[in-house]
Amino acid sequence: MIFEPVIICKDTLLSCIEFKGIEYVHIRKHKSFKDIEGVEGHYPTKKGVSFTPARWASFLSSIQAVDAKIRENEAGHNGQYKQHIGGGIFLTLDNRQINIRRFTISDGETDPIPSSCGICLSVHQWSNLKKGILALHHAKPYLKETTPCYRQEDHYEPALLRQCRECNPYENVQISF
Ligand SMILES: [Zn+2]
Repeated sequence: MIFEPVIICKDTLLSCIEFKGIEYVHIRKHKSFKDIEGVEGHYPTKKGVSFTPARWASFLSSIQAVDAKIRENEAGHNGQYKQHIGGGIFLTLDNRQINIRRFTISDGETDPIPSSCGICLSVHQWSNLKKGILALHHAKPYLKETTPCYRQEDHYEPALLRQCRECNPYENVQISF
């Protein structure tokens, strides 16, 4: 079934785009335009994130924890949250902002730090995103059933989990699960 992109906020869309046989989920800023005939449209910018099916599974598994932290924050507890999604991508919640962003390590450092590559959502946009996800899963039910990389069978072998660049993207930093 075709999934029509869902608007999360005025310029940010949830979409699903096939590329070389794989369907990627995008949360991405779009720019609108009007052509010379007055027809309006929009095109995706570089600002945003895309998820392989495995990364999408990993992202889905952290939604409940993010919701719980948002409720904690609303109750006055300033809880932070950080979850590895896959490759260099992390999901963080801090100060009522949800970031899905690439983290990189500078030379000589041991801690990955957030780069400018990714997207930042408010709590309100996060709740719009979740409504969009329901529509996405209705159109593409298999996206609910995909498996995160770290749950693949061979990953029960700790050495193989360590070697997987999707699960452990940094040379000298071990990601904990
Ligand atoms: Zn892996």
